[in-house]
Amino acid sequence: MLRRLTITSRATVFVAIVCLGLVLLDGWNSWQARSAQLREMSVETQNLARSMAQQADDAFKLADTALVGIVERMEYETAGPAEVARLRELLAVRVAEMPQLDGLHVYDQDGNWVANSRQNWPQNLNNADREYFKFHQTHTDRRARIGVPVQSRTNGRLLVPVSRRINHADGSFAGVALATIKIDFFLKFYDSLDVGQAGAVGLILENGTMIARRPFAVSAVGRDMRGSELFRAYTEHGPVGTAYIKSVQDGVLRLNSFARLPNYPLFATASLSKDEILANWRRDTLWHSSGVVLLVLLVAGVGWRLIRQLKLQIQTEEELRRARDALETLNKTLNTLAMEDGLTGLANRRKFDVTLETEFSKAMRNASTLALIMLDVDCFKQYNDIYGHAAGDECLQIIGRTILQVASMRAGDLAARYGGEELAVLLPDTDVAGAVALAERIRNAVRDLNIEHTGMPGGFVTLSAGVEALRPADPDSDGQPKALIRAADMALYRAKALGRNRVCAAA
Ligand code: GH3
Ligand code: MG
Ligand code: MG
Repeated sequence: MLRRLTITSRATVFVAIVCLGLVLLDGWNSWQARSAQLREMSVETQNLARSMAQQADDAFKLADTALVGIVERMEYETAGPAEVARLRELLAVRVAEMPQLDGLHVYDQDGNWVANSRQNWPQNLNNADREYFKFHQTHTDRRARIGVPVQSRTNGRLLVPVSRRINHADGSFAGVALATIKIDFFLKFYDSLDVGQAGAVGLILENGTMIARRPFAVSAVGRDMRGSELFRAYTEHGPVGTAYIKSVQDGVLRLNSFARLPNYPLFATASLSKDEILANWRRDTLWHSSGVVLLVLLVAGVGWRLIRQLKLQIQTEEELRRARDALETLNKTLNTLAMEDGLTGLANRRKFDVTLETEFSKAMRNASTLALIMLDVDCFKQYNDIYGHAAGDECLQIIGRTILQVASMRAGDLAARYGGEELAVLLPDTDVAGAVALAERIRNAVRDLNIEHTGMPGGFVTLSAGVEALRPADPDSDGQPKALIRAADMALYRAKALGRNRVCAAA
């Protein structure tokens, strides 16, 4: 199909393909770079979520280890004032060892404060109303429990309670051992993580309660997250996974990764804004896309100019060819006109002279014969006098046509108007007999036209003819075309002298 297109169309297609190729290649590269960037960031947020989960798990584990010891003490040792004093000291030492801990507490079955890591605390405080207390009171579960965040009654800090049930020997409820972990401890760690301007991290209980998050807001602590997309994604894809989620609060689309804590029913989540992830990629893409656009414009511009020049060149060539053809045709016409007799349509005298010259030379080379018939209309002066010059012209025209019809010209034969009412027929490769026969045929044909000529004895227009044929290569020939004319002329003269309307061959 391409073959049928013109060169300019092919050039246009080529330039278009180059431009399109550049654009597609750049587009494909950009897309690849974008996918790679997203993949890389997905791995990064997963790692973040995992390390947050590990950090929280470690913090809970340590606090829980302390609780296990306290519960054991409470259950197997008698609780005299000396034991309580020792226990209080132990609690204080433990809290001092663990920066994440705000305090360690022991409550009796009624919620009264039994022992505390603090040196002094207000008297008559009761924690029976706390959610964790009520839980242990009504559940025999002996595992550690992480409760909803609370605000400290003593120092106002936001704390996560980790608690265990204490039993009497008969298994009935004897109280609660509690470790409170500072939410600040998590926040400090989260502040050290790089999640960009719009990124977020958080720690959430599997029952949907928010423990801590960055960006931080007091109101976010303890919030029920069950209705959030994030929580839904966790329940669908957890314990470890990734999801794109559009925030209902700020409308930002984020890449979220989450990871469950190895030992506790919580999960950590880390998210990066998709816009921020792709910011570098966007800047790079903008740069090289601008470069590609410039390149495409350059290629298209240069291509367009070249194609236009090509088009112009082709047009010019086409015009030149047409002009040359027109000139050739004109030349041919001019040549024909220059070689043709205007009245009779036969060759003119100039053409006759030139042809005689060349045919004579050819006959000389080929040692062949060349014949010439000279024809002259009889008493034509008188015809003009009787019928007028215009009629004379017409008569000459008819005679010219008749000669062309009768003499079935071979290549090289030439019928010409020699001058006035004198006509000549040049016949290469023809001997006298052949030429005489043709002259007779012409003479008869003209007579048979029955053109009235009252001045003639027969009453019609007739011709006289003189014929000569010679072999220019013959030693007795003088090698001059003029000799042929002269001899034919002499024969014509003789025909006239013998009474006209006849053919005479040269003696
Ligand atoms: P003949 O040849 O029989 O001896 O007598 P003629 O009357 O033909 O004598 P000549 O050849 O001397 O005269 C030629 C005449 O032909 C002279 C001229 O009036 C006429 N003639 C020559 N050329 C033309 C022409 O182009 N048109 C016309 N109408 N007449 C011409
Ligand atoms: Mg005459
Ligand atoms: Mg004459």
